Parts: sequence; structure tokens; C-alpha cells
Amino acid sequence: MAGEPQDDCLFCKIVAGQIPATIVRETDTTVAFRDINPQAPTHVLVIPKAHYKDAAALAAGAPEVAADLLREAQAVADQEQLESHRIVFNTGGGAGQTVWHAHAHVLGGRGLHWPPG
Ligand code: 5GP
Ligand code: ZN
Repeated sequence: MAGEPQDDCLFCKIVAGQIPATIVRETDTTVAFRDINPQAPTHVLVIPKAHYKDAAALAAGAPEVAADLLREAQAVADQEQLESHRIVFNTGGGAGQTVWHAHAHVLGGRGLHWPPG
């Protein structure tokens, strides 16, 4: 069922505390933790606690949680005192999505080029 934890999902395991992560923020519906392979001085992932495979599925299935996620992504940027930052949802393999549990990347702490590669 939509939103239910998946046994084979890395980020569901982080939500459950079965895999360690450096958590920087947590709410009833979201968790924010540092990316294991940071692409910028600040690289935090913000995920819903419920399992949705990507941002599109989250927006369709739990729009109130999608709003929480966006609010939390901005709260991470504020907490990290980022002067400028980028919030990214890679959606689909062709866009670089490798973990099939919705997540926002919050990147900052260096110059960010546009358009990205
Ligand atoms: P995607 O490529 O799907 O947009 O982003 C997945 C992100 O998850 C990548 O930036 C990757 O470095 C990060 N990641 C993968 N495995 C782990 C892990 O076990 N712990 C943490 N903290 N991040 C992970
Ligand atoms: Zn999951």
C-alpha cells in the first residue's frame, strides 16, 4: 500500500533506525540527514518517513507531507546558515535517481553552477 515501509528500501531502514545516519532534523513526518557522499560542503537529504518512490508519487499520494518536506528543506538551509542553496528532486533514472524513496537534496556552501550537468 502507498506509504507503507518497504523491506528492501535503504531510506525506510534509516527511518526505522536499522541503518545509521547523521540526522540533522526530524519531524513527525520527515527526517533530514547528511548524504554519505556529499557533493557540496552542506549536502543533506530530506525524506518523508512514509515510503513513496519519488517526488511525483509523494505529491500525488500525500501532498501535505510534500509540503512538510519542502518546509523542512528550507529549515535545513536556515539551520546550516546557507547564503544560497539548491533543493533538488532527482526523479527517474535518467535524472540520476538511485534510491527509490522520495528525497530532496539540499546543497550549499559552495558556488552552484546553472544549468547543472
Ligand atoms: P539520488 O541519486 O537517488 O538522487 O540520491 C541518493 C543519495 O543517497 C545519493 O546522493 C547518495 O550519496 C545517498 N546515499 C546512498 N546511500 C546512502 C546511505 O546509506 N546513507 C546516506 N546518508 N546517504 C546515502
Ligand atoms: Zn522507503
